[in-house]
Amino acid sequence: MKLILLGPPGAGKGTQAKRLQQQYGIIQISTGDMLRAEVAAGTPIGNEAKAIMEAGQLVSDDILVRMLGVRLDQPDAANGFILDGFPRTVPQAEALDRMLANKGLQLDGVIELKVDNATLTERIAGRFSCAKCGAGYHDSFKPTAKSGVCDVCGSTEFVHRADDKRETVAARLEAYHQQTAPIIPHYASTGALRSVDGMADIASVAAQIDALLAQAG
Ligand code: AMP
Repeated sequence: MKLILLGPPGAGKGTQAKRLQQQYGIIQISTGDMLRAEVAAGTPIGNEAKAIMEAGQLVSDDILVRMLGVRLDQPDAANGFILDGFPRTVPQAEALDRMLANKGLQLDGVIELKVDNATLTERIAGRFSCAKCGAGYHDSFKPTAKSGVCDVCGSTEFVHRADDKRETVAARLEAYHQQTAPIIPHYASTGALRSVDGMADIASVAAQIDALLAQAG
């Protein structure tokens, strides 16, 4: 299965992609996670991307398209993938079309998570993740079962993303509406686009996505 999860920052793409990865055994490819790994490792790409990400802006199409091309060529992507955070611009969507066509692959679906701006800001402000295993949490919507302890691996260290500060969130939402939303008509025209109500709770969004995938499969 080859899917794109589309939606603004805080819409729940990462949460749903991680669940789909476990349920269907297909890998999550998060370009945001890949860039954060480059930043943490201090690579040339990471050094170039760091300030752009902290300002809530988009890293260049050139870097992202190359990065995704390399990732899709890895053997674990052969069984399918869920793209989380890519494509984010029309040129990226067009480059992805070409990459898939060259491999003789077709997308099974593009799932858009629809959420309004006020909700996104509230969701992003409260989120944090385990520093060790990456499990995602939220102060109000998905707290750890035991305060200060990761449900998944038991670690007691947590991190907040540098770009989840309120000031940066506004820039990220602006980038989404200006640069990413224009790819929605691109996928609507191919018939691949399906939209779900991302305002619902995590389990209801999951149920909506599963129902769509059952129809598609
Ligand atoms: P995310 O974790 O998907 O919210 O991505 C975090 C940040 O990484 C974004 O705000 C961008 O600065 C950068 N980024 C991730 N994916 C892309 C992409 N496909 N194109 C451009 N920038 C990206």
